[in-house]
Amino acid sequence: MNYINLENIVKNYGAGEGKVAALREISLFIQAGEFVAIMGESGSGKSTLLSILGVLNTPSGGTYQVNGVDVYSLTGEQQADFRRETLGFVFQSFHLIPYLSVIENVMLPLTTKRLKEKVKRELADQALARVGLAAKGHRLPNQISGGEQERVAIARAVVNRPPILLADEPTGNLDTRTGLEIMQLLQDLNGDGMTIIMVTHSPEWAHYTHRILHISDGRLKGEEINSVTFESAAAKFGILDFPVTNPSDELY
Ligand code: ADP
Ligand code: MG
Repeated sequence: MNYINLENIVKNYGAGEGKVAALREISLFIQAGEFVAIMGESGSGKSTLLSILGVLNTPSGGTYQVNGVDVYSLTGEQQADFRRETLGFVFQSFHLIPYLSVIENVMLPLTTKRLKEKVKRELADQALARVGLAAKGHRLPNQISGGEQERVAIARAVVNRPPILLADEPTGNLDTRTGLEIMQLLQDLNGDGMTIIMVTHSPEWAHYTHRILHISDGRLKGEEINSVTFESAAAKFGILDFPVTNPSDELY
């Protein structure tokens, strides 16, 4: 089954003379368990595509389905539920809140969940452990390094254990070594069964994924399969089907 299915997605901003065609009939399939990179020049439509996948930006045309559900035909409330339950976001503009501790930042997506405070803290602790920051939950964001802040943003994105993670330039502001650690972390999360779609400028980071989609001027211009990574990951974990079992179910 194709987990994510875009058909003829069009996105125009504005109208008349000032109209910008950001996406021109994008069609693509992404399987459950894939790790996909989206590459393209600045202005090519990467962030627009990611925001449409994130149900944050209604397309001007076309359909977006996840497991057969036509996401943009859901009501606003259903879309909000879908976002909360299905998607994790690591967007460049999603900064940590400076006056909340690391663990409080990670707990934010759980705010609206009917869980005991203790359980929320436990889930956040597990997410922080997952990104190697178990000991730093009590710190403030400015008391940890840039790479660690990115890890916190990833912990926050995965605390709900969403099946799909969307990341916009997660290594954008990091040095090579820290970027590599983040890529390894994303690969590990993908190994746990999370489908990951990552926008990046860097061909190097893109090669840590299974598949690279090149977009140019709002169109899909081609794709590269990173077969070694894909096959080894597929052999190791199987091509995973959703829903992912939630290891923290016993906490609920
Ligand atoms: P990328 O992430 O690849 O740099 P974007 O998706 O941000 O590209 O932008 C694609 C095109 O759409 C660009 O021409 C950009 O200027 C335009 N654009 C993006 N967001 C908006 C917006 N909110 N209003 C008008 N134009 C926009
Ligand atoms: Mg962008």
